[in-house]
Amino acid sequence: FNVPAPVNEPVLNYGPRSLERVALKAALEAGRAQQIDIPMYIGGKEVRTNTKLEIRPPHDHKHLLATFSEGDASHVTAAIDAALAAKADWENLAWEQRAAIFLKAAELVAGPYRAEINAATMLGQSKNAYQAEIDSACELVDFLRFNVEYMTEIYKQQPPVSGKGVWNRVEQRPLEGFVFALTPFNFTAIAGNLPASAAMMGNVVVWKPAYPQIYAANVIMKIFKEAGVPDGVINLIYVDGPVAGEVIFNHPDFAGIHFTGSTKVFQNIWQTIGTNIHKYKTYPRIVGETGGKDFVLAHPSANADVVSTALVRGAFEYQGQKCSAASRAYIPASLWPAVKENMQRDITSFKMGPVEDFENFINAVITEVSFDKLAKYIDAAKADEGVEVVAGGNYDKSQGWFIEPTVLKVNDPYYVTMCEELFGPVLSVYVYEDDQFDEILEVVDKTSIYALTGSIISQDRYAIEKATTRLRNAAGNFYINDKPTGAVVGQQPFGGARGSGTNDKAGSMINLLRWVSPRTIKETF
Ligand code: NAD
Repeated sequence: FNVPAPVNEPVLNYGPRSLERVALKAALEAGRAQQIDIPMYIGGKEVRTNTKLEIRPPHDHKHLLATFSEGDASHVTAAIDAALAAKADWENLAWEQRAAIFLKAAELVAGPYRAEINAATMLGQSKNAYQAEIDSACELVDFLRFNVEYMTEIYKQQPPVSGKGVWNRVEQRPLEGFVFALTPFNFTAIAGNLPASAAMMGNVVVWKPAYPQIYAANVIMKIFKEAGVPDGVINLIYVDGPVAGEVIFNHPDFAGIHFTGSTKVFQNIWQTIGTNIHKYKTYPRIVGETGGKDFVLAHPSANADVVSTALVRGAFEYQGQKCSAASRAYIPASLWPAVKENMQRDITSFKMGPVEDFENFINAVITEVSFDKLAKYIDAAKADEGVEVVAGGNYDKSQGWFIEPTVLKVNDPYYVTMCEELFGPVLSVYVYEDDQFDEILEVVDKTSIYALTGSIISQDRYAIEKATTRLRNAAGNFYINDKPTGAVVGQQPFGGARGSGTNDKAGSMINLLRWVSPRTIKETF
């Protein structure tokens, strides 16, 4: 069998009179009106509990969008049992059949469910239509299509050499046990990809999304079911993280974790797994994409327009809540006046407000907790004599969790906002003397506790070469003359090292190989 060669899903533009805008507006209205009660999915069955929690759009927190049933430890156990019960049939199904299911899921996202999944992301996660189109519909389609391609390459790999009278082969077994998929609030495509990529390779999965993502996760689960993912293969539960972790990480059949989220949570999980290592049948696979503190470094030769565009797009799309968002910049003194003026002009032109108005480029941050944390950092910066608020700096939570795109110019490259991941629309800038480029390279590397993405902007080939070499461990995805966000599946495999994760590149063969445990068979005749 050959699967169709994957192509990236074309991004629709949602222009004012386009059919896609009409469809999306209708899906938004339907979503707001329905007030659905979202169940968990265990063994293919919808499971509801008496603990109902509310989902409210971050940009409109007076509106009740939906409720969902929160489960407890017993639901985690039920999900593991359902997964293990489904395991034998699923792993024995020919891989071509599994491929067909996920290719169908891609078509469902690209076609009939496109408006619904984008609307769910917009309402539940306060992401504007254009960002939702890229980060939920298109990227999820790409993950599914490209991973099916990589999966076929794995199963069709050349067998090892066999000598006379011997037949050697390598079998790609699924992991012995179940995989736990833990997904973050910020990307709907990641929510679909983490359970799907493990399941594609014949594994059974317990999937727990971050709570602000449940509204979109419910649509993904409907798509998986309609595509033909059998009951029990992917089980979706809403249980408090530590409660779920207590059951999962003590279970002998725990075989792997596919995680995307914060560094702190991942490190805690790794520690727990280490403590419990003797309890498992097999060493679990630990795959995690975690936090970022991503940089843009401009060289004096750079074009100021290129720098400011990379900064405003890189820092403020989706309110800076991308793991790859530009959150610290190093700008030479000679360029700073032009870069500053450009950024102030662009930021003043941005409209901020609810996602339902497509003119609003900036929407709300995800939760009140996040809002309060960001407001605290902004207030501290305002009170600090060494910091100049170049743009923004205001916030308002009366209707939603709105924070203005904020640019802070700091006089210390080690200032807290140059080092910590804030995960919001706050960009910190350090201005260096033009002849200090070499020194600033050292500072960038030293402060890259995380190492997810980074950019060098320069027209000087020697400077590009120097930055590429010296910063080789400071970013898993390195950009030359571009913003540090917007990796495309199949084009720029994505992931970071250091504090940013295990760098198993989402949407790649490297990642899929983590979900199999090869067996070598030698037969002698
Ligand atoms: P988070 O770490 O708070 O949550 C991630 C998941 O872990 C959620 O499902 C959460 O409920 C669960 N969880 C929390 N505590 C747990 C525990 N003790 N045991 C088990 N599960 C637990 O992350 P978030 O706020 O949802 O997402 C934002 C973070 O994700 C940022 O740090 C961002 O950089 C990172 N991120 C990284 C990438 C990447 O590719 N590197 C991509 C997207 C997001």
